[in-house]
Amino acid sequence: MAPKHRYPTKGNRPTQAQTQIQPQAQPQTRSIPRITPLQLRRTKIANKIRKTWPIARTKTYDAKTRRRKMNKDSRGMTNSDIVCNRNALLQVLLHLPKFCNWVLEHKLKNAKHVKKDNKDAVEDETEEGNENHDKVENERETHDSHAWFCNTGFNEDGSKKDPNYWTPKAEDIPDSLIPDHSWICVACLMKNLIEVYWCGIGENGSDGEDEDEEGTPSPTRPLSQNLYPLSGIHDSAIRWRLQGIPNQPYNVRLVEKESQQAADEFLTHFLDALECSIDQTAHPDRYEQMQSLFYVSKNETGTCTNCAHPVNKLTSHMGLDIVPLLSKRQSDSIDAAVARDMADHKIEGVNCENCYHTADRDVHTTIEAGPEYLVVRLQLTQYNQRTGQSYKNTNPVRIDPVLDLTQYTTSAGNGPVVPLRYRPIGIVFHAGAIDGGHYVSKVTGPEKKFFINDDSVMEIGRVNDKGALLENPYQGGFNAYLVVYGKMANERGRSGRELEGLM
Ligand SMILES: [Zn+2]
Ligand SMILES: [Zn+2]
Repeated sequence: MAPKHRYPTKGNRPTQAQTQIQPQAQPQTRSIPRITPLQLRRTKIANKIRKTWPIARTKTYDAKTRRRKMNKDSRGMTNSDIVCNRNALLQVLLHLPKFCNWVLEHKLKNAKHVKKDNKDAVEDETEEGNENHDKVENERETHDSHAWFCNTGFNEDGSKKDPNYWTPKAEDIPDSLIPDHSWICVACLMKNLIEVYWCGIGENGSDGEDEDEEGTPSPTRPLSQNLYPLSGIHDSAIRWRLQGIPNQPYNVRLVEKESQQAADEFLTHFLDALECSIDQTAHPDRYEQMQSLFYVSKNETGTCTNCAHPVNKLTSHMGLDIVPLLSKRQSDSIDAAVARDMADHKIEGVNCENCYHTADRDVHTTIEAGPEYLVVRLQLTQYNQRTGQSYKNTNPVRIDPVLDLTQYTTSAGNGPVVPLRYRPIGIVFHAGAIDGGHYVSKVTGPEKKFFINDDSVMEIGRVNDKGALLENPYQGGFNAYLVVYGKMANERGRSGRELEGLM
C-alpha cells in the first residue's frame, strides 16, 4: 500500500473574509443569557433554512396499517470497489435536512426552502426546469444577494471555467487520467442526487418513481454507483484529488487515482467545491448560509508571557478535528478529546510584536460561533516514529448522547449564557487498514435510524431512540471516524424572540 498523503486543502485555512471579522463586545445583561453577536447571526441564518425533509415519494399501501403511506426509509448505494468512502459520507450529508433544502435552492429563482430577510420577497415555488439555465436569466438575478447559480462560463483567456474551482491546482495532469464526468457543477450534482434519493425522480431517465421488475414502485431501492449524479460526484472527486497533487509523475497520480481516498478528505474537497460554486461577492447571503451550516469560528487569544500583550485571532474551520487517546487501557470519549483540544496551552518561543522579545505565548481558545451541523473528525492515523509507518488507532472512543460546548463559548463566564449543545445524528465508521478498508454509516432519517453498509440498509431504532447511534464500534473492527452533530434548539421561548431582542 502506498503511504497515505495528506494534501493541502482550502477547507481548514481561514479565508481573507473570515479573518477580518472581529469579535465584538458581549451584551452585559444579567437576566438575558449572553451570546456572541456572531453566534446570534449564524443561528438566525440557520433558523431560516427549512428543516422539513425534502421527500416526495408516491404513497403505497401498507398491509400492516391498511393505509396508504409514504415510505421515508433511507436507501443503500452500490459499491463496486473503492467508492464506499464517498458513499458513506454522502449518506450522512443526505440525512441533514437543512443542508439538503439549502442545496435544493441552487438555481432556484426564488427562495422556497430558505426564508429571505427581505419581507417583500415573493415565495415562488417555480423552478427552472431547464438544466442549461439561460444566461439572460442568470444575469437578471445576479443582483440578488440570495441567488446561487452555477459557476459556469469562460475565463478571461477564453478557457472554460472550472465550475468547482479551488486551489491549489495542478495544471499538468494528463487528460487520460481525468474522468469523463468530472467537470460538472457539484451543486447541480448534489441537488440532483437529493432529488433522486428522496423523490425517486430522474433515475434511469424516468420522471416517476423507480420501479422494480414487477412494476411496483420501490422508492427505497439502492442507488447504482453508475447513476448520473453519483457517478458525476465520484468522477469529480477523482479530479479534485489529482489536482491537489502538484508536480507528480504519471504513475504516482495513477496510484492515487485508483486508491481509496479518506472520507474526511473527500468531505473537505466536496464542501470546498460547493463553497467555490458560490460567487461570494455577488451573493454573500449564500456564503453566510454555508458558514452557518458547517463552520466553527474560534477566538484565539495569545498572551505574551514576557509583557502580557494579548493577540486576538478569529478563525473559521469546517468542524472540529480531535485526536483520540492511543492507550488501549484507557478508553476515550469525544467529550474528553474535545476538552483536550480546547484546553489552554503554551506555544514556545514566539516573537512578540509588542516587546520584541522571543517569549512563550499562553493561548486560550473559545468558540465564537458554532454551526447548525458540527462535523467532528477523529484523527485515527498514528505514526510510528521508529519505522516511519502510519497505522490506525483502534482505541474505542465513546460517543455521548449530548456534546455540550457551552463551557467553551466566548460568552461563558459569569452569569447565564445561551447553551451550545449538539446531538449526534450521523456517523461514518471505518474498518481495516488506514489507507484502505471499508466505510459504513449510521444515519438519522425522518422516522428511523439506519445502519447503511453499501447497498444494505438496516433499521437500528426509531428516530427518538437516543442510544441507537452511540454504540462504537458498531460491530467487529469498526471505529467511529467522523461524527456529524445537529445543534440542539435552546429552551423554549429563549431561542426565538429573546434572541431577536439581542440583535
Ligand atoms: Zn450548478
Ligand atoms: Zn511581549
